[in-house]
Parts: sequence; C-alpha cells; structure tokens
Amino acid sequence: MNQPLRNDSPQPGASDQPGNAQAPRTPMSPGDEAPEGTPGTGPTVCPNCGGTGNAGGRPCAVCQGTGQVNVGIGGA
Ligand SMILES: [Zn+2]
Repeated sequence: MNQPLRNDSPQPGASDQPGNAQAPRTPMSPGDEAPEGTPGTGPTVCPNCGGTGNAGGRPCAVCQGTGQVNVGIGGA
C-alpha cells in the first residue's frame, strides 16, 4: 500500500577534501626542492641571485624573481 520514499544513501562529498596530493596548488620555482608549506622545508635566500630576485639584470630563473627558494631543512 504505502510506498516509503526511498532515499539513496548519501555519498560523502569528495569536494570536502582539502586538496589533491598529486596536484599542489602552489607553483614551484625551479630552485625549489619542495612546494611551499611542505613540512620539513622552508624558504631560504636564493643562492643564484643572493635574494635580490635579479640575475644579470633579468628576473632570476631559479627563484623566479622572488629572491627565495624553498628547500629542505633539518636534514630530513
Ligand atoms: Zn634567485
């Protein structure tokens, strides 16, 4: 007689996940050893341009003009 409404079991939202580990949001500079914010890494003065962001009158290719690169710290 009475037909109960059938609810499909709700699926957990995949969009709730903070992000895909395979696709870091932060673009890496060529001189970066790891994406910004990676545990065990930190920004340091770019060894190529000495932190000026310029090399030979052009934006440094290693740090992309930021003057900093992200490298591993703590010998991990
Ligand atoms: Zn640089």
